[in-house]
Amino acid sequence: MAFEVNGEVKMRVNCMTKRAFQRPPYRAVMSIAVTCLFVGSSVNAQAETGAARESVKSLHVAFAPMEPVFQTAPALPTSRPDPALAYPAIPVSIIPPVSKPALIDVLPKSTKMIGEMIRSQTGLESGPETELKLRNGEGIAALLRRAGYDSASIANAIDAVSVKVNLRRLQIGTKFQVASQGFRFSTKPGRDIYVIQHPTSGWLALTALRPTDRYMNFFQGTIDDSIYRAAMAAGINESALNDYTRVMGFSVDFQREIRTGDRFELLYETERDSIDGKIVGGKLHYAGLVLSDEQLGFFRYDGDKDAIGWYDENGNSAARTLIRTPISGARLSSSFGHRKHPVSGFNAMHKGVDFAAPRGTPIIAAGSGVIREAGWKGSFGRYIRIRHNATYDTAYAHMSRIAPNIRPGSRVKQGEIIGYVGSTGRSTGAHLHYEVMVNNRQVNPMTVRLPTGERIDDQHLPAFRKTLAAIDQEVLSHGTIRFAGDVTIKNTQ
Ligand SMILES: [Zn+2]
Repeated sequence: MAFEVNGEVKMRVNCMTKRAFQRPPYRAVMSIAVTCLFVGSSVNAQAETGAARESVKSLHVAFAPMEPVFQTAPALPTSRPDPALAYPAIPVSIIPPVSKPALIDVLPKSTKMIGEMIRSQTGLESGPETELKLRNGEGIAALLRRAGYDSASIANAIDAVSVKVNLRRLQIGTKFQVASQGFRFSTKPGRDIYVIQHPTSGWLALTALRPTDRYMNFFQGTIDDSIYRAAMAAGINESALNDYTRVMGFSVDFQREIRTGDRFELLYETERDSIDGKIVGGKLHYAGLVLSDEQLGFFRYDGDKDAIGWYDENGNSAARTLIRTPISGARLSSSFGHRKHPVSGFNAMHKGVDFAAPRGTPIIAAGSGVIREAGWKGSFGRYIRIRHNATYDTAYAHMSRIAPNIRPGSRVKQGEIIGYVGSTGRSTGAHLHYEVMVNNRQVNPMTVRLPTGERIDDQHLPAFRKTLAAIDQEVLSHGTIRFAGDVTIKNTQ
């Protein structure tokens, strides 16, 4: 946001003096002018498409198959005279488009009682407030009639609000807070629509932003059996935990590497609606994990849009070039190494790992790269091989289906769905056979040392260190310090 604001100020300074721009009312006028310009041009565009459609119609004459085809005038929009030519040649200043001001600066804040909003907009006191829910088959008019509104007020209120909201799309059960001089409802999270009777300008509708409060929560816990259970028992919000497992998932295999007694910690921000107290958002800022033999700590950095990511204390990205388990919710059913082949019965080296998963489970690219092979490959069935860099390749076999757009030569991003679990080729049941190749030789995907992702760019390092210090300060204010203080990372090269 700060970045956008800078951009905005710069643009304005180009054509105006700086002082003029710092006056808020001026900003509002400018943005209205620009909005009008845009509306105007879209109307023109529509008119032109209309003209084009008519000339297309005239082409469509008859269906007689052997008759010669006559080409009428090409279906192009006719050019219009430049409207500027209609005005006398007075030099005008051209105002370049400016980015929209942030909604938070423009829209009023929603209030706990609608009476507060009515008072601030009209200066009048309103009576008692009731809450009504939209019933099945009921429109807003019927609801307002239930609330005791007369026909004229209903008609005028609907006129005012229908500009802002498509009233036919209101959901059954939508709550309306109603007073005699106005009412409120919401169709979008974080926004309220107020419809208010103004003593001089009549019924008007306005959008207000729901105010929110942000809280920082820090949690440290010990894992008994699953991190999920421990976190839910501690009341950790589910989306924060999802982010946590995603960040840690590059370094840790939660199904196999977590032991009883391992400790985890997270710092997360909760955003609550100040009026009704409901949680409306959240953000994880720090994720820490102490295993028996290593410590992991990762920090969110979003100070610059080019460097958004998760990094350890030294600025190394939490993301790895490859994901060990390119499928979610799977169970490791056969590991790397010697075994008796389930179909042929011969003792053979198993050059990959098998993950049992229901047919149709999406398989994702373990890392970004270029598709080397995609198609049928003998006993592998439907098979994909991705080249990630000069050293690493990954392969996926027995798929039921290969995702569209996945063909040799196409690029894939880490995490992109490339296919679906199946049992094609020589296979006894739905599973993914997954191989990691280092210099074209299969290695054990579960133990191979994986290269780290990118390091944070040096130019962002000072700002990242500030973020890190702020997070430590926040943790300290909760009366403790991080477990994963001395962070060491395994699997780096
Ligand atoms: Zn296998």
